[in-house]
Amino acid sequence: EKTAVAPVMKRVYHEFELLHPEFVWTLDNNLNDRAAVAIRPDHLEQLLIILLDNAVKYSTERKEVHLALARAGSWLEIGVQDFGQGIGPEDIDRVFDRFYRVDKARKHQVGGNGLGLSIVKKMVTAYGGRVEVESALGSGSSFRLRFPLTILGSEKNETVSE
Ligand code: ATP
Repeated sequence: EKTAVAPVMKRVYHEFELLHPEFVWTLDNNLNDRAAVAIRPDHLEQLLIILLDNAVKYSTERKEVHLALARAGSWLEIGVQDFGQGIGPEDIDRVFDRFYRVDKARKHQVGGNGLGLSIVKKMVTAYGGRVEVESALGSGSSFRLRFPLTILGSEKNETVSE
């Protein structure tokens, strides 16, 4: 099953814009609506919701979330960047673990079970993709998902070679 990524991203983006008007939202989309990934649409939507929800939850003074869609060779890249509290080097390798949360103090400020990112990692991997995070304490986080790019309606029912 192929799912066009830009329409799903636009839909989730608009939902979050309505839910969190106190945030500045941007979407930098360099894909056309035929750029797709072999993923179930509800799974793609769930991944995006987890990342956008985290971006909102862990933002502090600077309430801004930048989303990006782009092609990188044979990959389709999804970026979610916030300018919130960030993740320190001692935690960054563990945020994708089940039930891992950065510290106890935070636990009382924003709710969560430490499951969202482990679900993201599992699903992305199951669909042949990768997930990466770059972050610095106090200045924000940038999550990047990559999936093998496919094109809707193309002759060949296969991934793009380059
Ligand atoms: P939930 O199970 O509801 O998703 P959660 O947000 O605690 O709860 P994860 O999404 O797995 O769980 O995130 C794990 C931890 O990584 C979080 O508790 C938080 O400390 C840290 N984290 C995740 N996203 C961000 C972000 N955008 N900025 C800063 N820290 C983050």
